[in-house]
Amino acid sequence: MALERTLSIIKPDAVERHLIGQILARFEQSGFRIAAIKMLHLTKPQAEGFYAEHQGKPFFDGLVEYMTSAPVVVSVLAKENAVKDYRTLIGATDPAQAAEGTIRKDFAESRQRNSVHGSDSVESAVREIAYFFVDTEICGR
Ligand code: UDP
Repeated sequence: MALERTLSIIKPDAVERHLIGQILARFEQSGFRIAAIKMLHLTKPQAEGFYAEHQGKPFFDGLVEYMTSAPVVVSVLAKENAVKDYRTLIGATDPAQAAEGTIRKDFAESRQRNSVHGSDSVESAVREIAYFFVDTEICGR
């Protein structure tokens, strides 16, 4: 299995509820190495650009409003099979459908306010990491 990177975002609902530490601990306890990390308050254009693939969907405007409502913590996580394993760790988009023990099952408030983001493919991960980080900010290459 190849060493991969994935992009994680601890979303506004989790930051507002002081869950950053608990969620980062889950990442490390699950074997992910934090290769880069920063906190930022997304602007509307940043949020719209990040979620460009969802433009036009009924939930898009609400999603952008939510993602800009408070700071987020973006990180690059490294591990073998990181993309798929991180999606397993966070669980389904809707916490009502998320498996027991997943981050969304344990922390998410709703389908929108679902605490964490994770890249859905290796190609998305490459694009999403480059959206937030330059190469020199990513440690341990
Ligand atoms: N979302 C929403 N309503 C929906 C579907 C998605 O508000 O019906 C939000 C939610 O925050 C989700 C994000 O839009 O995490 C991106 O949606 P996607 O389907 O890509 O889910 P993810 O990959 O984050 O599980």
